[in-house]
Amino acid sequence: MAGMDDLFGMNVFNDSVMRQRLPKETYRALHKTIDDGRRLDPQVASVVANAMKDWALERGATHYTHWFQPLNSVTAEKHDAFISPVPGGKVIQEFSGKELVRGEADASSLPSGGLRSTFEARGYTTWDPTSYAFIKDHVLCIPTAYCSYSGEALDLKTPLLRSMEALNRQAVRILHLFGRMDATRVTPTVGPEQEYFLVDKDLFDRRSDLLFAGRTLFGSKPPKGQELGDHFFGTIQTRVQAFMADLNEELWKLGVLAKTEHNETAPAQHEMAPIYSIVNVACDHNQLTMEMMKKVARRHNLVCLLAEKPFEGVNGSGKHNNWSMFTNTGYNLLEPGDSPHESAQFLLFLTAVIKAVDDYQDLLRASVASAGNDHRLGGCEAPPAVISIFLGDELTEILDALESGSDYSGREKLEMTIGVHMLPKFPKDTTDRNRTSPFAFTGNKFEFRSLGSSASISDANVVLNTIVAESLRAFADELEQAADFRTALHDLIVRTIREHKRIIFNGNNYSDEWRAEAAARGLLCLDSTVDALPCYTDEKNIRLFETHKVFSSAELRSRRDIGLDSYAKIINIEAETMIMMARRQILPAVLRYAGRLSSSLCSIRNAGSTLACGQDILDELCRETERLSESVGALESGIQFKPDSAEPAVFARYMHDRILPAMAAVRAAADSLERITDKTYWPFPTYDDLLFSVQ
Ligand code: ADP
Ligand code: MG
Repeated sequence: MAGMDDLFGMNVFNDSVMRQRLPKETYRALHKTIDDGRRLDPQVASVVANAMKDWALERGATHYTHWFQPLNSVTAEKHDAFISPVPGGKVIQEFSGKELVRGEADASSLPSGGLRSTFEARGYTTWDPTSYAFIKDHVLCIPTAYCSYSGEALDLKTPLLRSMEALNRQAVRILHLFGRMDATRVTPTVGPEQEYFLVDKDLFDRRSDLLFAGRTLFGSKPPKGQELGDHFFGTIQTRVQAFMADLNEELWKLGVLAKTEHNETAPAQHEMAPIYSIVNVACDHNQLTMEMMKKVARRHNLVCLLAEKPFEGVNGSGKHNNWSMFTNTGYNLLEPGDSPHESAQFLLFLTAVIKAVDDYQDLLRASVASAGNDHRLGGCEAPPAVISIFLGDELTEILDALESGSDYSGREKLEMTIGVHMLPKFPKDTTDRNRTSPFAFTGNKFEFRSLGSSASISDANVVLNTIVAESLRAFADELEQAADFRTALHDLIVRTIREHKRIIFNGNNYSDEWRAEAAARGLLCLDSTVDALPCYTDEKNIRLFETHKVFSSAELRSRRDIGLDSYAKIINIEAETMIMMARRQILPAVLRYAGRLSSSLCSIRNAGSTLACGQDILDELCRETERLSESVGALESGIQFKPDSAEPAVFARYMHDRILPAMAAVRAAADSLERITDKTYWPFPTYDDLLFSVQ
C-alpha cells in the first residue's frame, strides 16, 4: 500500500489539487462560490474544466459523467468520452466549462412521480462545486444535482442543498442576535455510521431471495444467533479483515474519511463509520461507500448485504446519522460551551431541535420509511416507530430546573438566568448512552438512529435541516422584535421546554410501558411505511417545505407517490420470489424427501419392525406440505388481484394489509418444514450456513 500521504484523496480533484493547478484568480473565485454558495462564473468554470480534464487524463480517465442521485436512491451515471472531432479524421480531448457546469440527461425511465411527462423527458444536471469531483473506474465523476426543465427536483441532492440553505439562513439570523457578526454561514455536518452483512458468494448465488430481494424470505433460526454477544466488537475474521483493508484503501483514494470499523451485534454483521463532513458531501460519500462495499466484497468472493433485515431472528442493519451544525468560524452550535454567552446560545439551538422533533415527528418517521426498514423499526433491536429524544439525566435535569425556575439539584447548584449563568458541566459520556432511543443527544451532536442501512441519508437530513430551520425562524421572528433580548430569550427557552418536553424520554424505548406512555403523551406511532409516507403532503408539512423553499407541493406529492409505489413493488417482487422458491424448490424437495421417507418406512415394516417416530415425521411433513401449498396458492391469488385505483397509496395499503400476512403464512409453513426435513434434501443454504460461513 502506498503511504497515506499519497493514497488519501489520490483520485479526488480536491482543494490542494485546485490550489496547485488553478491560476490564483480562478482558485479564489471558485472558493468564493464554494464558501458562499454563489453561482459559478462561466469563465471560471471553463478554466476549472480544463484543469480538471488535464488532471483526469493524467490519471488515465477517458470519460466524464455527471454523477447524480435519482429518486430511486441509487446513483446514476452516463459516461461521455472527452473526445471531440477535428479536421483530418482526428479527435482532440476536450471538456468545456459548459460541460462541467451543466449536463443533459434523458432520464425518462428514472422515477419522477408524475413531475415530468414523457414528452419533456429530459432533465438537466448541475455541478455541486462543494462536493469534489473524483475518478472512479477511468471516469471523471462530477457530483451533480438533477432537475426537470421547469426546475423541479428529480433527485436527492437538490432538496438537500436547498435545506442546507434554509438552515443557514435562519441560523445566521440567530447568531447575529447573539452579536456573532463574524458568523456568515452555518452548515450542517453529518457522520453516518453504516452497518452491513457479509455472506459467502457461493452460498448467496444459491438463494433467489437474496438475489432478487436482497434479504432472506425463508429460513429458520439457527441454534446460535447473537445471544452470547460474542460477535459485537469481537476479533475480526481474517477474510473480513482483508475485505475491510481493501475497502478502506478504495475509500481513502476517493477521499472518503473511513475511520472506524468493527463487528456488529449479529453474526456476519459489521460497521464502518467515517469522520463527519458537511452533509451533502457526507451523503455523496455514503453512496460511494455503499457502492464500494458491494464491489470490494465481490473481489473477496463475498456479497455485501445492505438490506435492513436480511435475516429474521438476529439484528438488522441501520445507519446512525450523527448531526450537528457548524459556523464558518469553526464553532459547533451544539457544543455546550464555556461561558454564559455560549450556554445561552447552546440552549437556544438545543431547544430549537427539541421543538422541531416534537412538531415534526411525522416527517422524521416518514423520512426513514421503506419496505425494508419496516422490518427493523420496532423490532426491539432498532429504535421504535415512535420518535422521541434522549437527552440524558443531567441535561434533562437542567432543563427541568430552568422550566420550574428552581435550583438544579445536580453537582453544582444552579439558579440560572439564561445569558448570565453558565451551564453546569454535565458529563459528555458516550459509553452508557441509551441505545434504544431513536434520537439521542450525544454530547455535541444529535444521533438520529432510525435510518435504514440501504437508504440514502438525504431524505432524513432534508427533513432534519428544514424542521430545525423552521424552529429557528420562529425563534428569530420573536427575538428580533424583543425590547429586552435577555428576558425574551429566557422566556422563549423556558416556554419551549414547557411546550415540547413530552418528546423527551430517557428510559427504555423497547418497553411496552413506553408505547402506552407515548400514546398518553400524544406522540405519534406510525408503524409502517403506508402509515408514514402520506404525511409528506399534510397541510402543515406542505406549508413548512414551501416556506423554506425546499419542496413545492408538487415535489412533495411526487416523493410520497414514488415512496409508496416502490414500497408496493418491493413487496410484489418479494411475494413473487417466495412463490417461485416454494413451488420450484421447497415443495419438490419436501415431496422427494417424503417419498424417500415413506419407502424407508415400508422397507422397515417389510423387515418386520415398526417405527412410530418415522410415521410421525411423515405425517407432520405431509401436513406442513399441505399448509405450504395452500398458503402459496393464497399468496398467488393475492398478488393477482389488483385494487382498482391509480392511487399509489391504495395499492401500497393493499400490499401491506393483505400481502404481508399472506407472505408470513408461507414463510411459517416453509420454516417448519425446514426444521423436519433431512438437510441434504433442503434446496438452498440455510441460516446456519449463511451466518457462520465467513471466517
Ligand atoms: P458510536 O458508534 O459510539 O455512536 P462512532 O465513533 O462510531 O460512535 O460514530 C460517531 C460518528 O459521529 C462519527 O462518524 C463521527 O465523525 C461523528 N461525529 C462526531 N462529531 C460530530 C459532529 N459534531 N457532527 C456530526 N457528526 C459528528
Ligand atoms: Mg452510533
